Formats: sequence, structure tokens, C-alpha cells
Amino acid sequence: MGIPHVDVKAQYAPLMDQLKAAFADTLESGRFIFGPEVEAFEREAAAYLGCAETVSCANGTDALVLAMDALDIGPGDEVICPAFTFYATAEAIARRGATPVFADIDPVSLNIDPAEVARKITANTKAIMPVHLFGRPAPLAEIQAFGLPVIEDSAQAFGAAGIATSVVSTFSFFPTKNLFALGDGGLIGVNDPAVAERLRMLRFHGSRAKKTFEYVGYNSRLDAVQASMLRIFLPHLPTWNTQRREAAGRYAELGLGDLVELPVDEAGHVYHMYCVRSSERDQLAAALGAAGIGFAVYYDPPLHLQPALAYLGYKPGDLPVTEQAALENLCLPMWGGISEAQQAEVVDVLRKASALLPT
Ligand SMILES: *Cc1c(COP(=O)(O)O)cnc(C)c1O
Repeated sequence: MGIPHVDVKAQYAPLMDQLKAAFADTLESGRFIFGPEVEAFEREAAAYLGCAETVSCANGTDALVLAMDALDIGPGDEVICPAFTFYATAEAIARRGATPVFADIDPVSLNIDPAEVARKITANTKAIMPVHLFGRPAPLAEIQAFGLPVIEDSAQAFGAAGIATSVVSTFSFFPTKNLFALGDGGLIGVNDPAVAERLRMLRFHGSRAKKTFEYVGYNSRLDAVQASMLRIFLPHLPTWNTQRREAAGRYAELGLGDLVELPVDEAGHVYHMYCVRSSERDQLAAALGAAGIGFAVYYDPPLHLQPALAYLGYKPGDLPVTEQAALENLCLPMWGGISEAQQAEVVDVLRKASALLPT
């Protein structure tokens, strides 16, 4: 019968009537850009995240670019980030004309390793951009202790505990993320009012009052329709994130053996992905594929070895922990509401496949 890697529709299906009503309201209002739905969502998201303000925008990639622009990061500046993350993290740095500097990751959490960050800091380092990878909070306290501005790429971690405490944190509402829109959307959590004001201008052509243009900005906005959908989803996020944590616990109980991920009680992890590691990853993935079970393998090749970033001069071997993770990771079916029966089927296929593997 098949199990998808992520079942977005299973999460919003029970809300269909509410979503249709909200869409009808927007149609009636005739108001599609900015307006009360967008403002209300920004307030509700700030309250949820516990940051001073939020500024919405068109997607998570724009959120990163806008955040760096608002912090005056550009040519000649270095920004330290991981290479085991979605391409947009480093692309946004390069898009600003700044230089992505890759720091290796921790082999267990797969998040950026503060000791590796320390080795990469130079006089030109303008910011550090940790990623809360797969929904697991990066070690923010240690990263913030370097005293440089921190831009949290939180695209995979809406609702994770202890995040969004830095000057800016960026979010994506791409449909597979923990909090999603029914299309593209993005948000920046901000803890500095001057930066928030600048972001509000930058997302609208660098303008405050629509007649004068004070910066060379962007056109990057969250639609009113998407804001109204997000306002319906946001109150369900605690339940969905709890369901993800419970599902992660079940994967462990169902007997993944050596494949099991870190314990579920790890502070704040919201399991955007449930990621296991194996040196036999490709065989396990093939077995899942043959059984009609969705999976994902991430960031292979990692960012420092991507053709668009070859000008940075990295070589294979430069980030050994990252490169090993790219070869070994396997992300299993996970969403808010995946059933125990579905998970049991996944585990069954993996156990049979690993029994067949040479030991
Ligand atoms: C999804 C994602 C982005 C980009 O978000 P979009 O909304 O697709 O532009 C950036 N960084 C990370 C880590 C992501 O997972």
C-alpha cells in the first residue's frame, strides 16, 4: 500500500472546512497583499516563538537574504555555517556577495560544532549561521558566546525549544516543514526593533511609506491567503510536534537496534526529520524503496562540494564528519500523526534488510 516520507495532507485534512472558509473570507475581502491576516499572523508567531517581533516574507531563502541585508552583511564579509544543510543556507550568504565559511558538524547531533566554529573565526567573520538541523536545536549558548551576531536558520524547527533567542531567526513554510503553508512562505523572528523596522522596509522595496525608497530592497511578502492558512495551522503545531516526538520514541521502541536516533527526551527536538545512520545506507534505502516506503537521503554531496560553490576552493576530506554524514544518513517516514502500524512496517522492512546485510 505504500507509506510516504512525509504526508502533509494527512495533517491538514481534518482542517479542510476551516481552510476553505478562510480562503472564502479572503476572496470576499479582496485583500491579498499585507493587511490584517498578515499582521495577525506575525503577532501570533512572535508570541509562539517568544521573540520580540516577526517579519513575514515570501520564503525561507528570502528570509536569510533579508536578514543578512538588514545586518549589513555583504562583500568582504565571512559568515560561518554548516555544509550539512539545505543549499539555501550557503546560497543566501553567497547571494549577498559574502563568503560562506563552512564549519564541520558534531557526529551525533549533526549540528554545527562550536569547536569547529572557533577554528574558522577570522577578523572578517561578520556572523554565525547555525541551522537547527532536522528540528534539533543547535548549541546556541555556545555559539552566541563567541559574541558575533547569530542568524539562526530555523527553517526546520518551528516550535523547537530554546530557539529564536538570537538577533534574527529565519523560518520557512514550505509545505513539508513542521509549520507549513499551502505554498511558499517565510518569516524572520527578530529581537532588535531597529533590525525589524529595516526588514519591514527591505521586504517592500526599501520603502516605509510607498513613495520614498530609502534602500535598494526586495519584493518579498507573505500572501494574505497563506497567512490565513498559517493562522489555522499554528494552534495545531504543539500537537503535531508532540506527535512527532512520540513517533520518534516509537521508532526506538519498535526495535531499530543500532539504527536508533538519539533519545527522544533530548531538549527541544521537534523531529522535522527522523534521521538514522548506517554504513549500509544504500542497501537499506533500496529495501525501503522496493517496499513502497518513502525515505530521504540528505545533503549528498554536502554544500562545500557543490559545483556552484567550487570557487570557495573546498576539497573532499576538508569536512570529514559532514562527508561521512552525507554518506550514511537515511531519513524515515515522519509527520505529525504517522501511525504505529505505519512505523512498524518501516521497522520491519529495515530489520529484514539489515539481517540480510553482511555483518
Ligand atoms: C527549507 C529550508 C530553507 C529554505 O526555505 P524555502 O522556504 O524553501 O526558501 C533554508 N534552510 C533550510 C535549512 C531549509 O531546510
